[in-house]
Amino acid sequence: MSEADCIFCKIVAGKIPSRKVYEDEEMLAFHDINPVAPVHFMIIPKKHVDSLASATDADAAVLGRILARAGRLAREQGSPEGFRTIINTGRIGRQDVYHLHIHIIGGPDPLPRMIAKS
Ligand code: AMP
Ligand code: ZN
Repeated sequence: MSEADCIFCKIVAGKIPSRKVYEDEEMLAFHDINPVAPVHFMIIPKKHVDSLASATDADAAVLGRILARAGRLAREQGSPEGFRTIINTGRIGRQDVYHLHIHIIGGPDPLPRMIAKS
């Protein structure tokens, strides 16, 4: 996926609208267009990284800062007692958008348990 075709790079550039949650010089948080819970937003590095599988040491600082900000943003968005972070990665992880993003999913009520055992 080239950056020119990347939907999240277009959101970072303001070419596609988003419902912004937070922005600074290196990260952007915005609501998921198809929420699966009352609180569902994503935090992304502004710099294009395809997926967690291709992240390197050069991405460590921004990824750390994204995680360090997640709790505060979740509380501000109405999920004060916890939330789930999901990073879908590659084919196995059912990643749809190949710009690394961390889902923050929560709400006032507890979520279902994680992946059901068959
Ligand atoms: P995944 O790559 O599987 O983690 O899923 C990508 C997520 O991006 C899905 O939850 C979509 O609902 C979400 N999404 C796709 N396009 C947009 C958009 N333009 N604005 C906000 N969220 C989006
Ligand atoms: Zn991108």
